[in-house]
Amino acid sequence: MRPVEELIERLQARGGKVTPQRVLIYRALAGDASHPTAEQLHARLRGLLPHLSLTTVYAALNDLAEAGELRRFSSGDGQVHYDPDTRPHAELVCVRCARIEDAPAPHGQAVLPERVGGFRVVGRTELIHGLCPECQVAVDAQDAQDALAAAALEAETQRPETAAGGSR
Ligand SMILES: [Zn+2]
Repeated sequence: MRPVEELIERLQARGGKVTPQRVLIYRALAGDASHPTAEQLHARLRGLLPHLSLTTVYAALNDLAEAGELRRFSSGDGQVHYDPDTRPHAELVCVRCARIEDAPAPHGQAVLPERVGGFRVVGRTELIHGLCPECQVAVDAQDAQDALAAAALEAETQRPETAAGGSR
């Protein structure tokens, strides 16, 4: 996404609707690397604009996306996410906590072919799924706990046998 002032000029030149509400929506999104959903942006702006409807947020975001000033994609969590960074890059998606981050270069920067299988290519979304650093720590701790519980259970199931053997 371009600087907000430049963006507004471009949208107006295309005959786009640029209301004060939309300007605030654009400002809220500019430089945001958290890949928010329309609902998240709406919640964030509600304090500033109590009468802002979710429909208005969707319309503003989709106009930007159609103008090529914003990328929208789904990450597998059933939600549509928006990214003001329209430069080629891949996204990292955590399969445990669903957080999304931009992948460092060169991921997602391979040159797009003009045509693929008879299709004229207009874009690409590249998602890399994995466990984020926090979730790796949580999963490792859970694994260690499970191993301890399994060892305790094993010791438990072996004890009655020896106890029964001893009482005879
Ligand atoms: Zn995570």
